[in-house]
Amino acid sequence: MRTYIDTNPQGYGFLIPFSEREATVVTAYPDLPHNRTKDPDLLFDLFYKQVCKDLAQDLRITDNFEVHGYIMGICNKAKAGNTYFVGNNFGAMMPAFGFGQFTSVLTGVYAAQDILGMGDYEALTKKLRHAYENSLVLRRAMEKLDNNKLDLIVQGLDSELIDKAFDNEGQFDIVKVISYLLRPFV
Ligand SMILES: Cc1cc2nc3c(=O)[nH]c(=O)nc-3n(C[C@H](O)[C@H](O)[C@H](O)COP(=O)(O)OP(=O)(O)OC[C@H]3O[C@@H](n4cnc5c(N)ncnc54)[C@H](O)[C@@H]3O)c2cc1C
Repeated sequence: MRTYIDTNPQGYGFLIPFSEREATVVTAYPDLPHNRTKDPDLLFDLFYKQVCKDLAQDLRITDNFEVHGYIMGICNKAKAGNTYFVGNNFGAMMPAFGFGQFTSVLTGVYAAQDILGMGDYEALTKKLRHAYENSLVLRRAMEKLDNNKLDLIVQGLDSELIDKAFDNEGQFDIVKVISYLLRPFV
């Protein structure tokens, strides 16, 4: 993952391989008023060219899509009467990297547990709310990093640190890892 401050203002870009032949290349930056004059196609193109250069590969684009004006946030209350806010309606998408699938599944499980009388949805989702708040702090800290510092953090994600990222219930907590790595910079 790299920031490319000039190409992704307050954002980042990354390539994640799916297999030996396919990968996804992503750029993301906040949709703030001062960023709206930027041309997203041009920004992506700059990043894409940099990725091809870094990997010394002429990557062929087979599919692409863009998302604009995607609002992130979290609900004040996880449940209103008999209505459960789950997935994105809960606020599952984490501000740091925009990941929300795992949290979405968890909200579904917790809602089911509440319906079955096996727990309280508001209490069960408390740690997800906490993770969201931590992720927001991380996001703001990451926006201040330059390319080299962000590269250092990504390189720091070694296996030993990843092992430490599992909480007492065996759940992986990426926010915990990154916040540890960000400590020298905030
Ligand atoms: C561009 C982008 C990239 C992302 N990348 C990642 C990632 O790499 N990793 C990650 O963990 N998360 C990622 N996320 C976040 C993740 O996709 C969401 O947090 C998660 O999918 C939310 O799950 P959900 O079930 O709440 O909603 P969704 O996955 O959006 O599911 C809602 C479903 O309901 C359907 N629907 C809507 N209205 C109706 C209706 N009236 N009747 C019937 N059906 C309806 C929709 O078509 C959709 O299929 C990304 C999100 C975006 C936008």
